[in-house]
Amino acid sequence: MIVSRSPQQPTDVVVEVAATEPAQVEAAVARARAAQRGWAQAAAPRAAALHAAADLVATRAEQLEALVVREVGKPRAEARGEVARTAAILRYYAEQVFDPVGAVHEPSLSGLLLTQRRPHGVAGLITPWNFPLAIPLWKAAPALAFGNTVVLKPAPEATACALALAEILDQCLPPDVFTVVPGEAQTGQALVQCADVVSFTGSVGAGGAVAAAAGARGVPVQAEMGGQNPAVVLPDADAQTVASHLTGAAMGYAGQKCTATKRIIVVGDPGPLREALVAAVEALPVGDPARAETVVGPVINEGARQRVQQAAASARAAGGRLLTGTRSVSDDGWYVAPTLVEGVPASHELACEEVFGPICLLQQASDVDQAVAMANGVRFGLAAGLYTNDLDAVLALTGRLEAGLVKVNAPTSGVDFYLPFGGEKASSLGGREQGKAAQDFYTSVHTVTIARP
Ligand code: NAD
Repeated sequence: MIVSRSPQQPTDVVVEVAATEPAQVEAAVARARAAQRGWAQAAAPRAAALHAAADLVATRAEQLEALVVREVGKPRAEARGEVARTAAILRYYAEQVFDPVGAVHEPSLSGLLLTQRRPHGVAGLITPWNFPLAIPLWKAAPALAFGNTVVLKPAPEATACALALAEILDQCLPPDVFTVVPGEAQTGQALVQCADVVSFTGSVGAGGAVAAAAGARGVPVQAEMGGQNPAVVLPDADAQTVASHLTGAAMGYAGQKCTATKRIIVVGDPGPLREALVAAVEALPVGDPARAETVVGPVINEGARQRVQQAAASARAAGGRLLTGTRSVSDDGWYVAPTLVEGVPASHELACEEVFGPICLLQQASDVDQAVAMANGVRFGLAAGLYTNDLDAVLALTGRLEAGLVKVNAPTSGVDFYLPFGGEKASSLGGREQGKAAQDFYTSVHTVTIARP
């Protein structure tokens, strides 16, 4: 049984549904496969259906926003932004339905040579809870636009949001074109065993298993996974500006974004930035995510809270200093105080692994080369930040940071859905998603030779 609880009030059960059994997943994929040919047949109805879904998301924006706040504890302002983004993603891919699907080439001798993109069939999507509307749709919208049908296995913690999406899409799409199969890992594993293309977002461990299983079946797979995102701060950067950006990037939504800043690497004297960061973190509004001013709500569950608390305790035990993290927070939900740490060894988990919560490490580098080496010295490579006014440094360093997203004088968090998104190293496997890159993933290119008889 899947029981999804509100992180700010764990006694509030948002939804309780049976987990989908493997045989039911197979049946859902079989129905989706039967529906796929009709769905792929004509572009205009696909575009119209995706536009209709965008309209319905916009009409129900307040309801969806409240559900996101309630189910995954996302602060209201961010939840509102996610709902707006969800509608925008649907509209963006509704228009891409009409993009060219191939090219015509000169034949080498006679006849016709052309390329033609075809959908794969049924897209099996496995998603996390932290963007409970946007991530399912930044996969589903392009999959659908390019003629695939979709079976979505959402994170258990975001089941109600996924069911709300299904309810909206059911009203706009033909039957069996979009199906949600609630469940845990076992349901996801079953989906990987029968889908024609697999797109996963989540942690590194689960993503590796999904990619291996899909790869063994020979189906296209992409896995977008965790980050351990550094922000390198050069001596000329303005401490107040950097502090205001990076507290939001590290602690906003309780640090539960794959692109959250996990390490702030200061070149030279860290004093002024340390002071500005401590003041900015202590001033962050922490509390009920339903309130308009809240920036840091609860973490998703008790396990996540313990993980952050244990990381802070082990940082102390390893000789580190907690610069913030002792303020009192409500015991009613899974709250944890935003915690800024300094002085742990390079082997400590806060320096090299992803702790998915409001905890961030301040590090010092003696020069730019050492800062870049520290930034790159982890197995992840999702996002990296650089703060400086020096254009030469920007031009020299953006290419040296090993990350799929490089942000200069901007928070590491935040992704534009109309550009390719993905990481380097252990953060990503398979092609990029979003933007125009999505067409490459959700279609395959057929090269067609037509000779004269
Ligand atoms: P998770 O890996 O625990 O779960 C993600 C999804 O995979 C869930 O639906 C889960 O039920 C399913 N799953 C787990 N094990 C599976 C298996 N063996 N086979 C098939 N499915 C399986 O991640 P989470 O806690 O939901 O999300 C947080 C993680 O997601 C963080 O690591 C975060 O960095 C990452 N994330 C990455 C991106 C990105 O685009 N790179 C975006 C958001 C979140």
